[in-house]
Amino acid sequence: MRTLLASIFCITLAGNLFSANLLLVKNGLIMSLAEGEDAPFTGYMLVDEKGRIGEVGKGSPGEKITAKTVIDAGGKFVIPGFLSGHSHPWQSVWRGIEPSGTLGEWLNGIHYKYAAHFRKGDFYAFTLHGDLDLLRHGITTRLNHTHRLSDQDLYMEQYEAEVEAGGHFIFAYVPDRKSSAENSIERLSTLMEKAEILPSPNPCLGFCLNSFGNFFGKELLAKDTLVARSLGLDLQVHYLEDPNESDSQRRRFSWFEEVNALWPGIVFGHFIHPTEEILDSTIEAGGAMIWNPLSNGRLASGLADIPHYLEKGLRVGMGVDGQASADLSDPFENMRMGLYALRMKYQDPAILRPLDVIRLHTIRTAEILHVEDEVGTLEPGKLADFLIVDPASPPTGPVFDPYGTLVLACSSSNIESIYVAGRLRVKNGSVIGHDAPALEKEVTRRIEAIKSRQKKANPDSEEDHHQSDRFGNEDT
Ligand SMILES: [Zn+2]
Repeated sequence: MRTLLASIFCITLAGNLFSANLLLVKNGLIMSLAEGEDAPFTGYMLVDEKGRIGEVGKGSPGEKITAKTVIDAGGKFVIPGFLSGHSHPWQSVWRGIEPSGTLGEWLNGIHYKYAAHFRKGDFYAFTLHGDLDLLRHGITTRLNHTHRLSDQDLYMEQYEAEVEAGGHFIFAYVPDRKSSAENSIERLSTLMEKAEILPSPNPCLGFCLNSFGNFFGKELLAKDTLVARSLGLDLQVHYLEDPNESDSQRRRFSWFEEVNALWPGIVFGHFIHPTEEILDSTIEAGGAMIWNPLSNGRLASGLADIPHYLEKGLRVGMGVDGQASADLSDPFENMRMGLYALRMKYQDPAILRPLDVIRLHTIRTAEILHVEDEVGTLEPGKLADFLIVDPASPPTGPVFDPYGTLVLACSSSNIESIYVAGRLRVKNGSVIGHDAPALEKEVTRRIEAIKSRQKKANPDSEEDHHQSDRFGNEDT
């Protein structure tokens, strides 16, 4: 820690403390991922006092450009922070569980078994644990596709953790099933107003709706769609993930049409098993999908035919899903899992390039989440969410093709530092401002308590498949 503080101090001294600019990164190999800017270049990036990118340029910044902190990124890659368009951070404390289970068995092993035994503080600690894990792995903007395992107070702990964690978030709200549409609109509007006035730099980049209507009934889907559309928000749903439910879920596609849920705001999480007609109708409606290859591989859900979707014109983004089904939330691992699986399927290495897949995990996801003016590329005006990646630590050898080294040979352990809105948030794997060992102890204690409550409630059964609904909502 002392060394870290000393190095920050030295870097700061190297800059101009009187400058209005927050940060100057120089000599880095910049991969801006901006449209039309495919070739990386050695250059600099200037961040203003509001944490936004002021300038990105080739070569040296010259002596006139100064900043409070100057970072020499020589020999390193400077890239935009990753986005996860679909995550359940609270699942971070359930990794490795049901390691050979299907999606149904896995849900039984977490949601159905333990949902009733969560108590005050659990959701907060677990979500914080997951958020810090996503941030540490280079995901600077996450969509928290929340779950409502219990009552309103416990549910909202997920929001409170999002605010505290650092990094940017989008909150996918699950309306209380017992509430009317009007009531949900009112509650969510109040929350949105509260989020708007969070201290600057505001960590909340937006909201959307998370509905389970396609599992529990057309009426619920209709109500949630009404809430989303009334507030001008997207509706993101798990759809066509489980291969064992493909037929029944495909039949329910008509529900989306019937309740007016096929509009540009519809976002399907997973979307692995659409028929050609479902795919065409989704594209025609302007809908989108979030691809989660690590989770889809772990749960044997299947491989979404991304090249086909892209060729037809579907908007595709990427996510790492919850950390209990993508147990290592490393976006590099996620990109490779997807890239290699598709290359195996097509037996064509050109079917998706490293540059294509990293754009899916950054700017394409930002576009789907409506935050493309804020994050996703390194361009003037955007928030300075970026990673400094050192291909020499751990060593990956000489660089022949920067995107090749970045996407095929690097991992989260090559991330030297992570900045969010121009502020250093992670240095060499440690999240600044959080006591990770203390949190680790706390979540372990909380998990033990949940397990013991569950066992006490079911003394005769090792395997209690408590029948709340598919995603843990108590069916009352
Ligand atoms: Zn999910």
